[in-house]
Amino acid sequence: MNDIAKLIEAASFAAKKHSYQKRKGNDAAPYINHPLEVANLMANVGKVADHDILIAAILHDTIEDTETTSEEITELFGKAVCEYVLEVTDDKSLPKAERKQLQIEHAPHLSHGAKLIKLGDKISNITDVMNNPPAGWSAERRLEYIDWGEKVINGLRGANENLEKHFDELVKKSRQKIN
Ligand code: NDP
Ligand code: ZN
Repeated sequence: MNDIAKLIEAASFAAKKHSYQKRKGNDAAPYINHPLEVANLMANVGKVADHDILIAAILHDTIEDTETTSEEITELFGKAVCEYVLEVTDDKSLPKAERKQLQIEHAPHLSHGAKLIKLGDKISNITDVMNNPPAGWSAERRLEYIDWGEKVINGLRGANENLEKHFDELVKKSRQKIN
C-alpha cells in the first residue's frame, strides 16, 4: 500500500476507535479533531514529512484512550509507528500527578519523532485550553496546564524550530489573555 493510502487508513482507524469520544471542552467536539489537528500542525507548521511519524501522530491517543492494542497497531501500521505511539502513551495505572511529572522527565529522552508528536499535542491541547477549556477550569487551572506543558516542551527543545516558535507564541498569547 502506498504512503497516502496508509495515512488515510490511519485516519479512518483512529476515527472509528475514538468514535464515541468527545473532547472535554464545552463545544464537546468529536475527539478525532484533536489527533488530526496534531498531525496537521506537524505536517503544515513543522513541515514534518516522515509518514511513520505522521501516522503515529494520528494514532497517538488510541492506546491511551481506547481499547486499541499495540499488536493491532504493529500489524496494521508496522513496528516503527507502534513504537512512536507507545513513547507518547501515559501509563494510566499511575496517579495523574505522577504521570504528569513523568512526561516532564521523559521528554529529553524521547525519539525525535515522539518529540514532534509531543509538540503537536501540547500546541493542540493548549489551544483547546484557551478556546474550549474543560468545564469548570478556572484561570488558575488553565495557567497551571500551560506551565506544565511548557516544562514538557522545554525538555525537548531543538526538535523542530517552526513548531517550537508556534508553541512559544501560543503560550505567550494565552498567558496574556488569561492574566
Ligand atoms: P486532565 O489531564 O484531566 O485534562 C487535560 C487533558 O485532557 C489534556 O492533556 C488532553 O489530553 C485532554 N483534553 C480533552 N479535551 C480537552 C480540552 N478541551 N482542553 C484541554 N485538554 C483536553 O487535566 P490536568 O492536565 O489538569 O490533570 C489533572 C491534574 O490537575 C492533576 O495532577 C491535579 O493535581 C490537577 N488539578 C488542578 C486543579 C486546579 O484547580 N488547579 C483542580 C483539580 C486538579 P489528550 O491529548 O490525551 O487528549
Ligand atoms: Zn493528545
